[in-house]
Amino acid sequence: MEEPFLAVLTREIFGNVSDAARLWFYGLSLLSTGVLGWGIARRVRRWRIGKPDTERLSLRAGLINLWQFVFLQRRVRGHGAAGAAHILLFGGFVVLSIGTGLIGVEHVLEKLLGHAPTDPVFHKGLYFAVYEFVMDLAGLALLAGCGFFVYRRWKRPPEVGHEWQDWLVLALFAIIGVTGYVLEGFRIVREQTPMPEVSFVGVLFARGFESLGMTAASASNWHIATWWFHAVLALTVIALFPYTRLLHGIAGTVRLAAGIERLGRLSPVSIEQVEETGEIGVARVEQFKRWQLIELDACVSCGRCEQECPAFEAGKPLSPRSVVQDVRQHFEAVTMVPSLGAGQRNDSARPALVGGIILDETLWSCTTCSACVDVCPLGISPLGFIMDMRRSLVADGQLRGSPAQALEKTGRTGNPWGMSAQDRMAWAAGLRVPNVQDHPDCEVIYWVGCAAAYDHRLQRVARSVVKLMQAANVNFAVLGNAEGCTGEAARRMGDELLFQQLAGKNIETFERFGVRH
Ligand code: SF4
Ligand code: SF4
Repeated sequence: MEEPFLAVLTREIFGNVSDAARLWFYGLSLLSTGVLGWGIARRVRRWRIGKPDTERLSLRAGLINLWQFVFLQRRVRGHGAAGAAHILLFGGFVVLSIGTGLIGVEHVLEKLLGHAPTDPVFHKGLYFAVYEFVMDLAGLALLAGCGFFVYRRWKRPPEVGHEWQDWLVLALFAIIGVTGYVLEGFRIVREQTPMPEVSFVGVLFARGFESLGMTAASASNWHIATWWFHAVLALTVIALFPYTRLLHGIAGTVRLAAGIERLGRLSPVSIEQVEETGEIGVARVEQFKRWQLIELDACVSCGRCEQECPAFEAGKPLSPRSVVQDVRQHFEAVTMVPSLGAGQRNDSARPALVGGIILDETLWSCTTCSACVDVCPLGISPLGFIMDMRRSLVADGQLRGSPAQALEKTGRTGNPWGMSAQDRMAWAAGLRVPNVQDHPDCEVIYWVGCAAAYDHRLQRVARSVVKLMQAANVNFAVLGNAEGCTGEAARRMGDELLFQQLAGKNIETFERFGVRH
């Protein structure tokens, strides 16, 4: 049994809104949803300009991503005031959206169950009290988040991207938040809502209006005018999602929901693909994969990747944020989506992507450390863009100097120093190191690697590892001269085909000696 005073707690859905006004509202809602849907459809057609991605999607990983990175905002937390402000703004927006959705559910149920507007199905009593309190709290969170981001945009820190639309979005959110309270104040005065204190902010507005002489009758016109203003702004925000920075909410969610893990991974290029397409890497923006084009729309230019990038920190001409943003702007400039039909490239006369929009020095500056991928709150991989463009440079023969020599030597001799394969065991001189050919029953293969095999300083590491394993009675062996380069350095430099060639040889060697993992 509810307490008597709780039983009377409620408010009329669409109170003070005439039937004609409701019809207009329904029509505008449809229009707003239509503009939203049209915008999303256009973005999807633009994303489809990219190449189909062969990455396997993972429902489980996608759900975990959504929980951790969208709902819990894991990569946003712990990043100072900006992180806290985003959580407030996002949390406030989500709660207010859910609350508005619940109003819609109540309205539909009333119609279906034949309840009068003054006799809500569930929007009453204790539920109503909690609802009003939580919605007022969420409004404060939204406004606090907006306030911080307005301040930050005003300060214009260099690591954060700025677009005029950001002001528009923040202004809309702030005005919607404030008019929500004003509307609530007018409603409390007009309906003389019982126990208005549960709307702890709205009641302050109500008391203010009453102190100015407003009565239930005179509040009516103010209420309906504010209701329309608030409703039109809210519908405008919904419609604007695909056309402003708010798009990150859609693109980022889609990207994270796909469950594609990019941290520490470089997407492979198969020799069959290269033979089929004649392309290695990305020289033109439409050669990026579709998931990468979605990542371009997900980027909010927050600058977190730039703050973590060791190359940027060391003064190299590389900012992962700028790479993603420059590619995004180029993508917008050189592609178009007709009213009907598929998106397409529309202008080939603009500066080339690689060497024009993104300079060679920028691409060579990346250490491939993956720090940018690790910190991005939207799961974007600036490294993926860099590596794809770097691969096209290598394929074009643009790699010069000692890195080019290292690749050439690796391809010719199986190690970046160009040393003879016959000298690969020189590091073990004076030690009794079992070779897998003589010791096929070993339990562990010690993979020495080119650096420990040929670099005099690192040879001591290999010798120490052997002594440790012998002291621990580990049943091990080495591959000896049959060991080849892993190709990791070649891969990170952008020579994916050389990497695959070397990896293939190593796999053959493993199979020959029955090595399993
Ligand atoms: S790539 Fe990610 S971390 Fe970098 S600016 Fe864009 S959203 Fe921020
Ligand atoms: S992977 Fe490259 S771009 Fe990303 S943080 Fe490391 S050096 Fe910077």
